[in-house]
Order: sequence, then structure tokens, then C-alpha cells
Amino acid sequence: MLKSILSPALLLILLLTTSSGHAQTDSLPSLMHRERTTSIVRVLSEYIQHPSESGNERRAGEFLRELCRENGLHITQMGDENGNFNFAASIRPLHLNLPNIIFLNHIDVVPPGDPAAWTHHPYSGQVTDTEVWGRGAFDNKGAGMMQLAGISAIREQYEHAEVPYNVTFLAVSCEETQCEGGARYVVRHHLTELNPAVVIGEGPPALRGVLQRYPERDIFGISVAHKRALWIKLESTVHTSGHGSITPIKYSNKEMVRSLHQLLRRKQPAIFTDLNVDILRQLGTLEQGITGFVLRHPRLFRGLIVPKLRKQPEIFALFSNTITLTDLDNHNGVVNVVPTSTAALLDCRLLPHASSEKFLARLRRKLRNDSIKLTVIKEMPEMDPSTEHTVFYRLLAATILERYPDSHVSKIFVPNFSDDGIFRSHGIPAYSSIPVKIDRSYLEHLHNVDERIPISILAEGSAAYAAFVRECMEEAMAGETRTVASH
Ligand SMILES: [Zn+2]
Repeated sequence: MLKSILSPALLLILLLTTSSGHAQTDSLPSLMHRERTTSIVRVLSEYIQHPSESGNERRAGEFLRELCRENGLHITQMGDENGNFNFAASIRPLHLNLPNIIFLNHIDVVPPGDPAAWTHHPYSGQVTDTEVWGRGAFDNKGAGMMQLAGISAIREQYEHAEVPYNVTFLAVSCEETQCEGGARYVVRHHLTELNPAVVIGEGPPALRGVLQRYPERDIFGISVAHKRALWIKLESTVHTSGHGSITPIKYSNKEMVRSLHQLLRRKQPAIFTDLNVDILRQLGTLEQGITGFVLRHPRLFRGLIVPKLRKQPEIFALFSNTITLTDLDNHNGVVNVVPTSTAALLDCRLLPHASSEKFLARLRRKLRNDSIKLTVIKEMPEMDPSTEHTVFYRLLAATILERYPDSHVSKIFVPNFSDDGIFRSHGIPAYSSIPVKIDRSYLEHLHNVDERIPISILAEGSAAYAAFVRECMEEAMAGETRTVASH
């Protein structure tokens, strides 16, 4: 049934970007623009209509795989069942073993919650004049469609050329739950075959209002690292009389509440690392006057900077190991029974180089209660941030600046984890960025009701990805030509 839905759209992107070299979507004749965008919109809508909550990716995955096949990409399956449905779709067969520019995306979505709370049903893929609606519209199906459209344009452009890089669309399962069958499985069993030179994964779009000096300017953050999850379960068990009419001296709820209070009442210390200090310095170079000077010397002005950082939890998260109490439960639900056990879940996020052991020892001390049992549910390994001193970082930044001349690009890292880190922990440079401008209000709907994506950014993002790959190809080919000529 599915025809090559994306191809006409991609051809147009290709024509546009090669002829102008600058791909301003506004300059397109309106009909072409409409046609191109319509195709991406249609496929995205259909993709959303295949629900794919983590662990149930297969149907959506098969749809996506077919789409890639029909767009002329070479498919390599890397797991074929729910929770483990992953595939690579590449412009050249993987067995050629070319260094590979990998675009990583995930098929799974988080559950939509109560569908009645949504304006349009979460799996309707509703298309309005300006938006595509539904769970996954941005995270990560919309972003995936931008990648796929970009890669397909590249495939067509270089169809008959000898290319220095392969380019792969790598779609994986259960990123949201970080299960073993997704990116971890792919890296464990197919890393050599994939031969990644760089991984481009999901990351922040442009942010506005970051700079005091230029509040109207967009900052495109390219994330080179993320914090590590350390998920903990605390259990307090106290055997006691069960009737609520008599208050025991010690009981599990009270023990737990008291310990949690000890743990959470004090602020987490600010930690300056090479990475976060570097980010402040970069911002400092973009600011002027005192603000700029202070930011350029973060360690010197620590006393001034930290209280400011604390006021913005999303920023302070990059300067601290965080502890968030996300669940408190005693399986009770009745008012006149004293339960014997109480459990709490703590979502802790550690800076890339923080020691888990030291963190856990400190946490244990702060609880001030040795009878509380502490279990680590999930722990991500320490990982090195990717260096920004690669040709890929340079060309990604240059591509963004060329397409959005009034913006800035900054190296950043993010508090939430993604699959990019799994590649990073194998020493592969991984950069997380979605090179589009989007109003901040849209981001509030990610993992929330009424997720949607503006239609206008779909073509914008795919053209930016394509331009980046084209830069990589051209630079490598120019290098080869120079080498040949000098012999
Ligand atoms: Zn995501």
C-alpha cells in the first residue's frame, strides 16, 4: 500500500538545497513548499496512528521500516520483536563498512495518560492547518521524520557518487524506559557492523531568552553529555501492632517520613566541573559588561553565580547531583490500619563524572536511619562527554549558523538521559541537537497531554540535517581530491 511517500518531498528539498545552497523554506514557490511539507505531514500523522508505547514498538516499527525501504534505503534488522525492534536504514549497505554518520531516533513513546484529557485523541495523528497532533508528534516521531527526510534527500543526491560516509537512520525500541532491547542491544551486537563515525541524536531545539545581552537571539545547544540516572528504592519495615487506634512508638511510615525529611530538607551542593564551567565561560563570551566578565570567571565568582543558578532548577540541575522523591507508597489505602512497610522511589541524576559510590554513601548518611533498606534499581555508568573538537561538531555548528545567521551555537549538556550516551560510553562522539526553532510552549507538552508539532519546522529540520551531511560529504571529498592531487 505504501508508496514512496517521502520521495517527492525529499527530491524537492534536494533541488532546493543544491540550487540555492541555503535552503530558506520561505523562498520556495508556495506550491512546492506545500507539496513537500504535505508529504512529511502525512507520513508523520500515519506513524503517530501506530501506537508504540515502550515495549510495543513492533507495528509502528514495521510501518517505519517499510517507509525507509520504499525510500531506497538499505535495511538491516537488529532485533525483531516488541521491546527489541530495531533497524538501521542506510544509504549504502552496511557491509561496505564505510564510516557511518548515524541519526539515532526511537520508535517508542511514553503512555498518553487519559485520552479524554487531550484536545485530539493521542493516537489520531490529527492534522490541523498548522500542527500535527498526537503522542510522539515531537518526541521522537516528528524528529525521526525530519531525520529520515534529510537522509533520503542525501541518498538521492549521492545516488551515483562514491561517498566517503555511509548515512544511517537508526530506529530503536524503548528509549523512554531504557530497556535492554533497544540501543543497548544494538550497541552490544551490531556496533562493528554500524561502524559509527558520529551519532546525531535527539536534543534540544533552539532556546530563546538565555542571553541577557540579546534576549531575542536563539541559542542552539549541541549537547555533548547528559546526566546519569541513579534510581533508588528505599524501604522501611517495622513490625508493629496494626490498629490505628494506638500509635506505635516506631512505625514504618513515620520512620520513612522522618528520614526523607532529613534527606530532602537541605539543598544539594553546587558542583563546578570542567564541563559546566566551560558552558558558563562560553555564555560569558556572548554577554557583555559585568555579566560577561563574571560568567567568564565562574570559579572566581562562584559566590555570586551559585545563588542565581539555584533560582532556576532546570539550570541548577547542570550544576548538581539531584535527588527527587517521585513515589511514596505503603500499599495501604485504609485509614485505620498501620502498615508494616513503606517504600519510596528516588530519581537521582548525577553529573557525568560524579562517583556513584560517594553519592550513595552521602545519601545513606543523610537518611540517618540504618534500618532503611536502600536498593539501586538502575545505574548508568560514568561516561566521558563527547569532545567538541571533531569535524562533525564543527560542521554541525557551522550548518546551524549558516541557516540561522542571527543565532548562536553553544556546547551544552542536558539533565535528561537519552540513547546517545550509550554510544558515548563506547567512545563514539555523539551530539544531541534538533536544529529547529520552536516556541517554548510546545516543549511543555512533551511527555504530557496535547503533544504536537508545528508543521513549519518539519521541512526546516530535515533540510538542516541534510545540509549537515552534505557539508560532511563535501569536506571529506575535497580532502580526498587534495590528497590525490598532491601525489
Ligand atoms: Zn525522546
